[in-house]
Amino acid sequence: MVWKFGGSSVGDMDRLRRVAQRLVEARRAGADVVAVLSAMSDTTDDLLEMANVLTAQPDARELDALLAVGESMSCALAAIAVHELGERAVSLNGRQAGVLTDTAHGNARMQSIDPARIVAALEQGLIVLVTGYQGVTDDGDVTTLGRGGSDASAIAVAAALGLPECDIWTDVPGVFTADPRVVPDARRLDRLSHEAMLQLAEAGAQVMQPRAVELAAAHGVAIHVRSSFTGEPGTWITEVREENDMFETARIIGVAHRRHDPLYQVDGLTPAQVSAALDGHGLPVGSIIGSPGELRFTSPGAEPQAVIAALGDIGAAVAVHDEELGSVSVAGDACGNRSEVTLRILESLERTGIRPVLVTSTPSRVSCHVASGAVDEAARVLHSAFGLHTDAAAPQPVGVALAN
Ligand code: ADP
Ligand code: ASP
Ligand code: MG
Repeated sequence: MVWKFGGSSVGDMDRLRRVAQRLVEARRAGADVVAVLSAMSDTTDDLLEMANVLTAQPDARELDALLAVGESMSCALAAIAVHELGERAVSLNGRQAGVLTDTAHGNARMQSIDPARIVAALEQGLIVLVTGYQGVTDDGDVTTLGRGGSDASAIAVAAALGLPECDIWTDVPGVFTADPRVVPDARRLDRLSHEAMLQLAEAGAQVMQPRAVELAAAHGVAIHVRSSFTGEPGTWITEVREENDMFETARIIGVAHRRHDPLYQVDGLTPAQVSAALDGHGLPVGSIIGSPGELRFTSPGAEPQAVIAALGDIGAAVAVHDEELGSVSVAGDACGNRSEVTLRILESLERTGIRPVLVTSTPSRVSCHVASGAVDEAARVLHSAFGLHTDAAAPQPVGVALAN
């Protein structure tokens, strides 16, 4: 089995010890145990801040060397905790675990995993602790896989070991119809498809890194998202699509948000040049609007610093045009194709006095950029506008079902 524990699940020594106990119990029950660990709570942010005290633009290679330290720490400490409980364990960093990536520092993509060392350790009966978030280039340089990247590490290790599933242990009891910390009456989903999870994750639902979901879909790995605090069963993300018996109706899955989703401005470049600069750093292109003289664009989920560095590489100065923007999205099957979904979103927001400055839709998502300070309220408003709350019987169809 491959179990991944996120930052808050290994946030202090007591929690690390509890994780070690879980692993030892599973080992003693006869399982082959691989655990992929994140850095302890805010360690990655703290390391980033340390670099930023020295410079606004740290060298990408050295930044990766620094950020990868957090995961190494967790794994070594967990191995020590397992030893103390009387079992054998070994920690493996990205290189030792055979995680080969490209050279896009800060957002590297995995090219292959050679799990030979993991397999050898399992054969010796060891509990194997693999660093999340870390990889290594052909040249032996340390890389990191983008924020939240331990999820992708875990899925990749499970796929490389030929396992059908991977457990993501985190600080919430599963995947909800919205972030339960922002929308208190969000409902926990028992099951959803990779595709539905990807829609939510790409719109900002932090519980799973989008790249991890893509990997899981590509390799047929089912994901079990569950709470490391309670241990109860959580949400299964599987290949199976939800049944949609509502003919020609949009089926809303949930609401996702980003408190910060800025609009950038750059002068003197064409859209293709902007796109190439972002692509060179593995960053997404959201919307690009305006004329070549003055373009505005979004890069959903990217750190502003990474966007500035990407454009800086081609000698362009990018300004964060509107830093005080976030976004809220409604995700679901065919919802972006239905004008009544967009209408309901915009009317609901407007009734609350929230004015989006940019509305974008894809077939499975409608996103609105709104003031950062209004994002949480917008998420709550849209969640109830689509009847997703706890006491609702089921997500309400939007539009009229076809009569027989
Ligand atoms: P970890 O450190 O375990 O990787 P993350 O902080 O990356 O955990 O992700 C878990 C957080 O994701 C939760 O604490 C929750 O606030 C947030 N979240 C956002 N959207 C959702 C959602 N739809 N369902 C569950 N959690 C969500
Ligand atoms: N520690 C990394 C981060 O904070 C990776 C992860 O937690 O998944 O982004
Ligand atoms: Mg995470």
